[in-house]
Amino acid sequence: MIICAASNNAGKLKELRRILERMGHEVKSLRELGIDLDPEETGTTFAENARIKAEAFCKASGLPTVADDSGLCTDALHGAPGVYSARYAGHHGDDDANNAKLLRELADVPEEQRGAKFVSAVCFMLPDGRALEVEGECPGRIAFTLQNGDYGFGYDPLFLPEVFDFERSLGQALPEEKNSISHRGNALRELRAKLSGNA
Ligand code: IMP
Repeated sequence: MIICAASNNAGKLKELRRILERMGHEVKSLRELGIDLDPEETGTTFAENARIKAEAFCKASGLPTVADDSGLCTDALHGAPGVYSARYAGHHGDDDANNAKLLRELADVPEEQRGAKFVSAVCFMLPDGRALEVEGECPGRIAFTLQNGDYGFGYDPLFLPEVFDFERSLGQALPEEKNSISHRGNALRELRAKLSGNA
């Protein structure tokens, strides 16, 4: 089906596109659809914000729409930055400032207490108002320094997935590798299962 991938975040959009196209869908970005909207994320949970975005962009596009709200939750900071991940350092989408702030906040936290997880809430909405909501996670740990690679975005250079034995960051994974283990990949696989009636 033709799906509107509802994200203004370039890194996220790339991943949504890749995963959904691999699943056989045709993906339209907001830019391709000429939609310039930035709905206020007033929810207190990832799921609430995903629904706010899915509703707004589904209405604007008239297409089945996938919206993701996601972020990083750390154990030592009791879940922060959480739903504030994109604006953790004060300015929306400033990845460098967000990473610097996270490193400062965790400066004195030892390795065994640096547990964290990425969470992605995905809302799939149809123009008739029906919606499916799913969530995916990716457990790991926060590094002591940036582990930059050639890919990824956001907190990826600081996130050491458990499935990599904490030895490489998500920023050092190839796109396909990241999608096969990521919170967003897991949420979208769950959505696919629900759409095909297998979940
Ligand atoms: P949203 O666009 O409001 O959902 O904000 C998501 C924010 O969470 C991004 O700006 C990143 O800071 C962070 N984030 C979500 N998913 C990822 C990911 O896969 N890698 C790195 N950072 C992510």
